[in-house]
Amino acid sequence: MILLGPPGAGKGTQAANLSAALKIPHISTGDIFRSNIKEGTPLGVLAKSYIDAGKLVPDDVTVEIVEDRIQKDDCKNGFLMDGFPRTIPQAQKFDNMLKKLNANVELVINISAPDSAIVKRMSGRRMCSCGRTYHVVNLPPKTEGICDACGSKLFIRDDDREETVLERLKTYHEQTSPLIDYYSEKGILKNVDGTKPISETTEEILKIIADLKG
Ligand SMILES: [Zn+2]
Repeated sequence: MILLGPPGAGKGTQAANLSAALKIPHISTGDIFRSNIKEGTPLGVLAKSYIDAGKLVPDDVTVEIVEDRIQKDDCKNGFLMDGFPRTIPQAQKFDNMLKKLNANVELVINISAPDSAIVKRMSGRRMCSCGRTYHVVNLPPKTEGICDACGSKLFIRDDDREETVLERLKTYHEQTSPLIDYYSEKGILKNVDGTKPISETTEEILKIIADLKG
């Protein structure tokens, strides 16, 4: 199964929850890139040559890295993809690769949230150098701008700045949201509301899966 959704809609958290509940691995392309690069596999070396040159890793290389990962034993009973495919060409290549392996995408969950909700959620995040995170609305520190635990001044990550969030949402709408139509036409896409509390969204997705298994 695949998780889709804009940055900041909670895909990573949902993936972790679902992976634990369903006992299937959570495959994030970011993670498998990092592990291939760290282990110095031929694919990792190849991917790194693009990254070091400041280029995007070509789809064929990404698909090959995914193919290698999903053939591992732990994927026998299924797996959960997060962060891939990101574009229509990737989705087509992924479908062809799965066909070759006698597998297919069974379910695509689209975690939807309006841009305004995402901007509000992400631009309210505050971090501390001690590792604690806060949110001006959902999890405010006792004193504004100061870490409860260590007294340091809180800061905003570059990734959470409103202009960065808006830029990432623009890329998402251009490249990734066409995937919603692609999978919907195949009849395997289900929408869930990403603005609800995390645990409610997890329950909603688990219910969809239970219904599907019928
Ligand atoms: Zn702190």
